[in-house]
Amino acid sequence: MTKEINLKIKEKIAASNRILIVSHVRPDADAAGSVLGIGLALQQAGKDVQMVLQDGADNFRYLPGSEQIVRKADGAFDMIVVVDCSDPARVGDALNGYGSPDLVVDHHKTNLNFGTYNVVESEQAATAAILYDHIPDWGLAFNTDVASSLLSGLVGDTIGFRTSNVDSSVLRRAAALMDLGADLTYIYREELVLKSYQAVRYWGAGLNRLAYEDGLVFTSLTLADREKIGYAGNDDADLVNVLSAVREAEIALIFIEQEHNQVKVSWRAKPGLDVSGIAFSFGGGGHAAAAGADINGDLNEIMARVIEKTRELLVSSRK
Ligand code: 5GP
Ligand code: MN
Repeated sequence: MTKEINLKIKEKIAASNRILIVSHVRPDADAAGSVLGIGLALQQAGKDVQMVLQDGADNFRYLPGSEQIVRKADGAFDMIVVVDCSDPARVGDALNGYGSPDLVVDHHKTNLNFGTYNVVESEQAATAAILYDHIPDWGLAFNTDVASSLLSGLVGDTIGFRTSNVDSSVLRRAAALMDLGADLTYIYREELVLKSYQAVRYWGAGLNRLAYEDGLVFTSLTLADREKIGYAGNDDADLVNVLSAVREAEIALIFIEQEHNQVKVSWRAKPGLDVSGIAFSFGGGGHAAAAGADINGDLNEIMARVIEKTRELLVSSRK
């Protein structure tokens, strides 16, 4: 990241009063933590900040400031910031009627660089880590709530510091955030350990249909599962991380039926494999080890298509 772009971002922030911060649909901890991290830092600098997640922040009530996150942008803004999104479609309807963003901060290697300024650092473990590095460059400061938000993003995207991109510099950033007042034990429990009773029963529905074949483990979660169990979300309640525990599997896949004939697919790969390209080819994106896509069509038909293509990837990786 060059000094000039940081200077331009600092000037843009200094010249802006009303600032909109947006991240992706079905927000994960890095999306919510990054929105709050930069949003609260901007508030501390006296800015009028609106933080928007189309699907809300119900899963992140443990983060201070999350109650300020709304589902739709409202009013006019001097600056628009998108965090943790590799393409503008990922923000859902949150930016409808607004122009392209002034600033995009992201760590996905499939990022389309759709902002005026793009701070895309694909080697970083989380967007929250990029924000930690640049908040001072942009004339902003940390406080305990900013640090808690950023640590939550870092813990979430590294699944508790266990992904292959965790090195000593990631842990140093986490330690610095703890020194700024973030409570790791609390964040870790809230973020990764505690699930609702319904969520764990929902896992059960997916685990009941779990299938394994030659390096590939997969299952589905249906609208009927959610209705029967009373699980309110439209995500997998992190079941994909449970599938990644299957030792025999090189790739784990999960298919989550959505409304309006749509299916959310998540890929998780063992180190050495790259599933970002296959997700991108289905209109999604992500990282080598974790990627996803929203695909239009019938659940069974999409499962067949995606499994076939993923099997081809596995076979060619063995050559
Ligand atoms: P997950 O499978 O947990 O939703 O996402 C895994 C990774 O892929 C995350 O970094 C996420 O941001 C990215 N990802 C998931 N779904 C999509 C999608 O539909 N489009 C794009 N561009 N990235 C996605
Ligand atoms: Mn992320």
